[in-house]
Amino acid sequence: MTTASPSGGPRFRFAPSPTGSFHVGGARTALHNWALARRLGGTFVLRIEDTDEARNRPEWTQGIIDALEWIGISASDDHFEGPHFQSANAEGHVAAAQRLFESGAAYYCDLSGQEVQDRAKELGITGYDGYSRDRGLEAAPGRVLRFRVPEGSTIVHDAVRGDVNFDNDTIEDFVLLRGNGSPMFLLANVVDDIDMAITDVVRAEEHLPNTPKQQMLWQALGATPPRWAHVPVLVNEQRKKLSKRRDKVALESYRDDGILPEAMVNYLMTLGWTPPGAEEAGSEIFSWAAMEEAFDLSDVTLSPAFFDIKKLVAFNKQYIKNMGVEAFVAAVDTDLPAEWDRSRFTAIAPHIMERLERLGDARELVDFLFLEEGADPELDHASWDKATKPEWAPALLRDVTETYASLADADWNHESLKASMESVMANYEVKLGKAQALPRVAVTGRSVGPPLFEAMEVLGQAETVRRLRGAVHRVEVPGTPE
Ligand code: GLU
Repeated sequence: MTTASPSGGPRFRFAPSPTGSFHVGGARTALHNWALARRLGGTFVLRIEDTDEARNRPEWTQGIIDALEWIGISASDDHFEGPHFQSANAEGHVAAAQRLFESGAAYYCDLSGQEVQDRAKELGITGYDGYSRDRGLEAAPGRVLRFRVPEGSTIVHDAVRGDVNFDNDTIEDFVLLRGNGSPMFLLANVVDDIDMAITDVVRAEEHLPNTPKQQMLWQALGATPPRWAHVPVLVNEQRKKLSKRRDKVALESYRDDGILPEAMVNYLMTLGWTPPGAEEAGSEIFSWAAMEEAFDLSDVTLSPAFFDIKKLVAFNKQYIKNMGVEAFVAAVDTDLPAEWDRSRFTAIAPHIMERLERLGDARELVDFLFLEEGADPELDHASWDKATKPEWAPALLRDVTETYASLADADWNHESLKASMESVMANYEVKLGKAQALPRVAVTGRSVGPPLFEAMEVLGQAETVRRLRGAVHRVEVPGTPE
């Protein structure tokens, strides 16, 4: 069943068309091929299907290469081959068409698209009825070359769906070369697969209707068809197929939002497949190495897979939490203003990593630490009003401020800051959550953010006390301009 591969191992391929931004569904297909090629000691061939001149743009090709790199499919890996460009094999496509014509497997037809439609209407059929099968036409401008679909049926052995049987009666004599002599997708795709000694075609389910036609072409060209696998499509919350127009499908938009590549890769792999052991472990978080080791097409489900952005974000949260401070700081570095002191950011980093859903949220959470000396954070007025409301709040704020002002340098750490707050709040019989509210808004400008005592430790005594005193002044003298 297997076409020999130069390296001996199976040859997978990923064959995107550079006609738009890189789709998350394409990323998942690429990962499936990558996992299998690597695990089985084979090759992942990247072929850019750039023959649709009207829709191709060279920058999309670079986008594909960058996107693959981002998800760990690296052109420098030994298992990677390419990129090859479909356009480079234009002569091969036409030569194959010529061979099919000469062997009688294909024939020319001079009906225009409109004439085919009119005929179908007249005959009460759908599609093309084989009108020119036996007319013996030669090639000429305006004539299309059609494949002579044999009688019988075509069985596609599919690693995900098992045997799929197609009745050849339902397949019209499809076009291989257009009237201007240019090859159609079906032909170019097969000729390239044969020329590149592809042994395994793993792609999205939407290509399944093409497969019997392509399998016939493999056979008519004297080659052994590859192993096929069609993985389920991705759908949105309404169970509609993900679409560029309706849904957020561009991989780079997730990258730009601060989704980590590891989280994206892990999440994409779980669409239609559950890593073995996930249920027992109660978690689908798996390393690439573990998934590569375990991924098998026979375990892929048949039903469409819901691309759930909320779940992706939950994965991302886990990955950010576990990524290590150094890696985290490096990953957000480009999002941070150049003037922000990196050692200060590194000091607060462990306290925000646990709560971030996306890398991009980091900046806003800690910006209060980087205001110029003496500049007060922009107050969130609703939070300020709420925090100042309790009767005891202004007095507690004043006491805490003075306690903090009198702390020795050596005691300026989150443990003592917390202990001091606790001793002050005992006089007011309030709990920590409530006691912290006003100091938090005073120091950070907001009611949410990193843990307050750690934040104050990083901010330093002088600046923290200055901000707290400013707030004391504001609550005691209502109406004071901020
Ligand atoms: N260029 C085709 C696509 O992007 C390739 C399909 C295939 O994998 O055979 O859909």
